[in-house]
Amino acid sequence: MDLQQFEHQYDHLARDVAAFKRAISNKLMYSVGKDPVSARPEDWLQAVSYAVRDHLVERWMNTTRAQYEQDVKRVYYLSAEFLIGRTFSNALLALDLMPTLQQALRELDVNLDGLFDLEPDAALGNGGLGRLAACFLDSMATLGVPGFGYGIRYDYGMFRQMVVDGRQVEAPDYWLKAGNPWEFPRPEVVYRVRFGGRIEDSGQGPAKVRWVDTDDVLAMAYDTIIPGYGTQATNTLRLWSAKATEEMDLRAFNQGNYFGAVASKNLSENVSRVLYPDDSTLSGRELRLRQEYFFCSASVQDLLRRYLRTHTTFDALPDKVSIHLNDTHPVLAIPELMRLLVDEHAVPWAQAWSLCQRVFSYTNHTLMHEALETWPIDLFGRVLPRHLRIIFDINADFLAALTQRHGYQPELMRKLSLIDESGERRVRMAYLAVVTSHSINGVSALHSELMKASIFSDFAAQWPERFNNKTNGVTPRRWLAQANPGLADLIDHRIGRGWRRHLDELEGLRHALEIPGFLGAFRRIKRQNKDRLARLVHKQLGVTISPDALFDVQVKRIHEYKRQLLNLLHVVTRYQAILAQPDADWVPRVVVFAGKAASAYHMAKLVIKLVNDVARTINNDPRVGDRLKVVFIPNYSVSLAEVIIPAADLSEQISTAGTEASGTGNMKFALNGAMTIGTLDGANVEMREQVGAENFFIFGNTTEQVAGIRAQGYQPRAHYDADPRLKAALDAIRDGVFSPEEPGRFQQIFDTLVNWGDHYLLLADYASYIATQDAVDALYRDPEAWARKAVLNVAGMGAFSSDRTIAEYANQIWRTRPVVLPLPHTVALAANATPPKA
Ligand SMILES: *Cc1c(COP(=O)(O)O)cnc(C)c1O
Repeated sequence: MDLQQFEHQYDHLARDVAAFKRAISNKLMYSVGKDPVSARPEDWLQAVSYAVRDHLVERWMNTTRAQYEQDVKRVYYLSAEFLIGRTFSNALLALDLMPTLQQALRELDVNLDGLFDLEPDAALGNGGLGRLAACFLDSMATLGVPGFGYGIRYDYGMFRQMVVDGRQVEAPDYWLKAGNPWEFPRPEVVYRVRFGGRIEDSGQGPAKVRWVDTDDVLAMAYDTIIPGYGTQATNTLRLWSAKATEEMDLRAFNQGNYFGAVASKNLSENVSRVLYPDDSTLSGRELRLRQEYFFCSASVQDLLRRYLRTHTTFDALPDKVSIHLNDTHPVLAIPELMRLLVDEHAVPWAQAWSLCQRVFSYTNHTLMHEALETWPIDLFGRVLPRHLRIIFDINADFLAALTQRHGYQPELMRKLSLIDESGERRVRMAYLAVVTSHSINGVSALHSELMKASIFSDFAAQWPERFNNKTNGVTPRRWLAQANPGLADLIDHRIGRGWRRHLDELEGLRHALEIPGFLGAFRRIKRQNKDRLARLVHKQLGVTISPDALFDVQVKRIHEYKRQLLNLLHVVTRYQAILAQPDADWVPRVVVFAGKAASAYHMAKLVIKLVNDVARTINNDPRVGDRLKVVFIPNYSVSLAEVIIPAADLSEQISTAGTEASGTGNMKFALNGAMTIGTLDGANVEMREQVGAENFFIFGNTTEQVAGIRAQGYQPRAHYDADPRLKAALDAIRDGVFSPEEPGRFQQIFDTLVNWGDHYLLLADYASYIATQDAVDALYRDPEAWARKAVLNVAGMGAFSSDRTIAEYANQIWRTRPVVLPLPHTVALAANATPPKA
């Protein structure tokens, strides 16, 4: 039987309900160990997951075999975060198994809908950066790009957020407690990762350094299959978990210190224990540095081992391996690859460096100073003495080359050095990435330009050819097909199903606008999604919201630059206006917030408290009624986003211009038929171009104007004094209108915005924001006109598929070709991309 016949039979089987029922029953008995009469829903979920997973395994092995046979160039995507969410329904979609499963479970008398909500999110990330990595895995598999994700298998993912008395309370997210049916533990794939110790220098140059007396940890692999959509191709996400070494156990055992041995074993396994909950800020903790090195070292050892299975020299490494650094968290992969090549494989230093420069590429995700990773060299040298030496040697070579090119220029050297010598000496991780990588990209057109003009300007002057843009995208499978089945269905009926693989086809919706009944159907679907969210809000918060109201939504990490406070200033202004003119013709609004604050971020936590206090006051004020409601939905996560985003009428993307690198939430909303109110920041700029300025609510100062205001000296008090509505809103917050039990609670917020020269210029954008919100109301009064523009937003989102983004990375940065599978539906890169160079 050849593969094609096998595949045919296989597909046939997959659709055979009876066989699937049998498979589920077998899994329940022999893998989960439960009798159907006593099985809990959790047990059924586990059984069904195993049965579904079996269908992925065949594809996985075919893909892996084809990758080996074709000796394709592999892309290793290194990321400290993968914010995946749930896997079950995603796998069903990829396998087109939903109808079969529905029927099989009906016959087994098990409720499928109840099962989905039992699966915990894999929340191994903070926000946009981690979610981007997850969308990229989906797109790489779908396009057949031979990719591996490498990261950390945190025992505890992103904390679970509870709101108690209006304040954020963090609870641990032990997502693995019921086991993870989607992963394959690989106890045979383990690498030793070394820490500490000292280096012995023979004084004979970089090749003659020995690293000794280290404390070691083992990294053990856990593999998860990443299915492609509409293809047999899959990829692998390999996450590393820390295990104590055996000799550590033995040593302590021989000393008769059994409890001491177990205790220190636990300590060394701490390295993969928990995700740091900081988004866009550096925590600078030693354990974090250890985490970063832990997964970089294991990943680089693993990819070298794979390469050496089919090669005897390193000459072909750049033709077979691309290592992509998702922000600076994986930058230690650079000195680690240097160390392995030079110290362990005796590759001459210059040759090793040349290999590194051709292998590594780097994505920058932020320009904000507080997010740029630097490590004090004392700490660095204590944890990774050999790597510090390697970085010093790289720096010496780099500065020497600089001098050769420009003559002796101490000021230039000071600015570009990999070591920041001002104050406590620190290693600049982003500079190490830039000096090494052949490609350095930003994540939106605006961000990439600003990156070249600001933090990397001196490097861009040296090597302009290395810098480029790759505007982010999101996967339409999860963010439209799965999250919004109603809209997906409507689109299918109008333009067919191809948009899941070729999002450009959404353009076809422009014609659908003229078809009688289409807008009505679109509005009914939005309404159903709003009903669904209203039920969730009622169940979780006990607050009743009307689906007739305009749903105005800001869901994302709580951060000063994202300006949830500006949104609140509008809410308070609207509240006060309603009280002043209760009988005016108000467009009813529900303002929805969700998002987590870093546990050490005081201001962000205070913002959460203010949102909740404002919500309590307004929702309980009988004078307001349905004209305005405010809700804060706890525990923002991928699975919550999948419910909230399809229900939004208005998407709030209101960061200070120049601060949001791209945003991806903005794309998910527009794809689901929300209008955007936003600043000219990140990818908002390109979204507006694609959907048309007349279909997009833009307000506020531009990046240049922001820079101008700061240069002249921002005067927030002038705005406060000049605008009575603004003054009234701020005074209410300051004077305890929303916190009568503690009137001074929000003094600090007032001071930040009015007296302390707020870096994010909220008051400078307030008037423009309020005026634009009035324009939003005006359009919403005409439901047809609103729906028409919302559809045009969907139609214009084709460019924001992560398939387009990944095709660009594959063609322009990684120069890799898709794997060819001897099966139907082989893979082609997205049609709008240029073909890869051989
Ligand atoms: C998309 C997404 C984000 C990123 O949202 P932004 O608005 O771009 O900051 C964060 N968290 C989750 C759960 C997401 O799905």
